[in-house]
Amino acid sequence: MKKICKLEKKETERYVLEFVAEGQRPTYICEACARLAVDRKKICKPLKIRKKAVKKK
Ligand SMILES: [Zn+2]
Repeated sequence: MKKICKLEKKETERYVLEFVAEGQRPTYICEACARLAVDRKKICKPLKIRKKAVKKK
């Protein structure tokens, strides 16, 4: 599978719905494109999401 960052917006949405349906939570965010992923290899600039950081908002 190609990187999420390279996908069209519609494909990205489908991918997100797919892992949500599987009960997975994204653990990485792309610093460059703000895309979320379960697998760091699927985004171009992965940054691990920390639970404490999420709590902030
Ligand atoms: Zn990216």
